Amino acid sequence: SGHWEKYKDNIFLTNYEGKQFAVKPMNCPGGILIYKSRPRSYKELPLKMSELGTVHRQELSGVLAGLFRVIKFTQDDAHIFCTEEQLEGQISEIMELTDYFYKKIFKFEYHAELSTRPEKFLGEKKDWDKAEKILESVLKKKKMNYKLNRGDGTFYGPKIDFHIKDSLGRTWQLATIQLDFQMPERFDLEYTDKDNIIKRPIMLHRVIYGSLERFIGILLE
Ligand code: ZN
Repeated sequence: SGHWEKYKDNIFLTNYEGKQFAVKPMNCPGGILIYKSRPRSYKELPLKMSELGTVHRQELSGVLAGLFRVIKFTQDDAHIFCTEEQLEGQISEIMELTDYFYKKIFKFEYHAELSTRPEKFLGEKKDWDKAEKILESVLKKKKMNYKLNRGDGTFYGPKIDFHIKDSLGRTWQLATIQLDFQMPERFDLEYTDKDNIIKRPIMLHRVIYGSLERFIGILLE
């Protein structure tokens, strides 16, 4: 997934019978392995896999704070595998779901931020340009005001984040939608389209609550 090269200092490692193991720091590779467990057809797309995934990350003890920043937390994670044509529709659905949770259920005010290609990135510039355009166009179609964070995307793709304010006026990033052309490439993901041609799906990573611990922390405050 590319995480090892970038984040190995933040992963909890252990040894067992002479082999090195890592305590799971993110859920994506798990979803990908299920996708790869058998051949996929275009008829299955968009294929959505969700999990309440528990992840562990080494953070400096000085930055840990209550339920807001912890070393073990649970993400309401989902990975959506789809075609390029399905992307806009899928992103738009996730945005509607986020709005339903934040505004309708919890009555939170929120705002969106779009983060683009960082200095160190995987893949081709042209794929990044395309991905950023798609995210931007959904934001515009939804007439959503957003802040642009140039260079603040993940190393595998640009993203839209949703931020809410707690009772003390502090802003927290919770929901995120990440558009990813890179992991499908690195894991060699495929599907067969209607003309029997093998194609590569695109992946969306998304959380709504983000970290359940953090969300509960905000509710408690
Ligand atoms: Zn993911």
